[in-house]
Amino acid sequence: MSWGWKRFAARAIAEASALTGRGRVRPGYRVLLYHAVGSRLARDPYGISIEPKLFERQMEALARNSQFSVASFHAPQSSHAQLQVAVTFDDGYRDNLYTAAPILLKFKIPFTVFVTSSFIRSQSDDFLTPAELRELASLPGVTVGSHGATHLPLDKCDDSTLWQELYESRCYIEDVTGTTVRAIAYPHGSVTLRVRDAAQRAGYVIGGCSRFDINDEDRDPLLLCRCEVVAADSERVFQQKLRGAWDWYRLRAKDPAAG
Ligand SMILES: [Zn+2]
Repeated sequence: MSWGWKRFAARAIAEASALTGRGRVRPGYRVLLYHAVGSRLARDPYGISIEPKLFERQMEALARNSQFSVASFHAPQSSHAQLQVAVTFDDGYRDNLYTAAPILLKFKIPFTVFVTSSFIRSQSDDFLTPAELRELASLPGVTVGSHGATHLPLDKCDDSTLWQELYESRCYIEDVTGTTVRAIAYPHGSVTLRVRDAAQRAGYVIGGCSRFDINDEDRDPLLLCRCEVVAADSERVFQQKLRGAWDWYRLRAKDPAAG
């Protein structure tokens, strides 16, 4: 099936799911996964760079809706009587500093940026430089985490490469930002219990994967589910994703927490 037809089918299922759920907000801890905001990227086959105006309307909806509370990326808590939402970005795009951050600061929304250390060293126009990463890390409400050293799928790595990807990236980001790094997002969502345990040994206490779902208090903090928001998502689809109508997407892949 082509990408367009897959997306059409996915939307139809989400619409049906939203109708069945009657728009109710599912309590728990939901982590949103973004990449770029506003940039024309050299490579963007899946449409991950979101229009700034659309991103701003999404953040305004988050900040202004009393049904949600916005939190920084953290371990799930038992007190989730309502929906808590966290905003995260992967890869380390330059626009996270110049386009996304001003919008998030305006609405006082904390956020976490997971950067791949080789992208920061690359001097590519798409990615933050070390100085820009330092500036981003110094902004109020911003946390910087690791997204690996070279963006390899970690489950495919042998033990020594896996360790380098996890540990060297953490040390590099700590050196650049002067902050302690304890959070990781697994590149390509490639994570198994072996990768999770190695991340823990490398000093991480919280991790984000790419599995679509909400997190309850029992969810392993090193295997938190995240829901990706892409450029093609209208405000309606954004609201559906917030309310859980796209959580069936989790069925596309095995849960890494299941072993
Ligand atoms: Zn990535």
